Amino acid sequence: NASLQEDHKPRILLMGLRRSGKSSIQKVVFHKMSPNETLFLESTNKIVKDDINNSSFVQFQIWDFPGQIDFFDSTFDSDTIFGGCGALVFVIDAQDDYQDALDKLQLTVTKAYRVNSNIKFEVFIHKVDGLNDDYKMESQRDIHHRATEDLGEAGLDHVHLSFHLTSIYDHSIFEAFSKVVQKLIPQLPTLENLLNILISNSGIEKAFLFDVVSKIYIATDSSPVDMQSYELCCDMIDVVIDISCIYGMVDEAEVSTTFNSQSSSLIKLNNGTVLYLREVNNFLALVCILREENFQKQGVIDYNFLCFRDAITQVFELRNKAQNAAQSVRDQQ
Ligand code: GDP
Repeated sequence: NASLQEDHKPRILLMGLRRSGKSSIQKVVFHKMSPNETLFLESTNKIVKDDINNSSFVQFQIWDFPGQIDFFDSTFDSDTIFGGCGALVFVIDAQDDYQDALDKLQLTVTKAYRVNSNIKFEVFIHKVDGLNDDYKMESQRDIHHRATEDLGEAGLDHVHLSFHLTSIYDHSIFEAFSKVVQKLIPQLPTLENLLNILISNSGIEKAFLFDVVSKIYIATDSSPVDMQSYELCCDMIDVVIDISCIYGMVDEAEVSTTFNSQSSSLIKLNNGTVLYLREVNNFLALVCILREENFQKQGVIDYNFLCFRDAITQVFELRNKAQNAAQSVRDQQ
């Protein structure tokens, strides 16, 4: 079974009623579609397996389920679908009446939990761009309350649901996806630790390790994340990618060197803040925010960065070794 062979990849399932916004989320986060273009998306009518292999840390599949399919049908192979699933993202359209969505959520969680009790359940209260702040909070409270009550009735009060307010029209969808993906990275504490060491030795205020293509941050140091810093860093990545695509080169082997280990960028803001981006490997970039006066010691920062990059490379290598070993054990069986 092909899907079972891919088990070492954490898999994210994206589910929810028809028109809740699943395809839009997938297109905007992983395929660089602009939010306005999603207005013209065809409705999903089959399971879409979308392999995201952009970063070796973020390998997963998004299974976009058409809302109207009865996946409790006997032909629906729930063992395969939920068995290898790391996180189940359930999208609820907050601009619509969400009773049906809540019913479906309860059925889905019940079924999925029975097959695989390790699944992380993530509820996206979606399209909140159309709601004012009070109403946003009110719907979150209401959905949270009703969803957990439904689970209680099904005898599953110990199952934890996480809730996120999301919209494709701002950075909230990227931030929510970052949180989801981070829970699936076993090396997260190591990465956070490395980032903490880096910032404390370099006078950096905040550092994010980004998956460049999706703008998901796979780790950050342990100081709190404020949305504005995250947005600034996302914008910086967009600028760097745009410039690289326009002026980047293709080398003799016809390999695009648009974004590679030499890439770096520096932006000075007029409030005395510096944004500094350094490429970690072909998929990951480190973006730091620091005070301009601390950037005067750029040599120290660059040296520390190289140490950081070596350490990250080792984390990757160890992980690959472990995966290959697990694979060869499976092959022998
Ligand atoms: P799917 O059937 O679940 O895949 O839903 P689609 O992705 O096709 O989305 C249905 C509609 O919702 C489209 O017209 C999207 O433009 C719209 N939509 C998706 N996400 C958002 C959002 O965050 N805010 C708003 N206002 N509309 C959204």
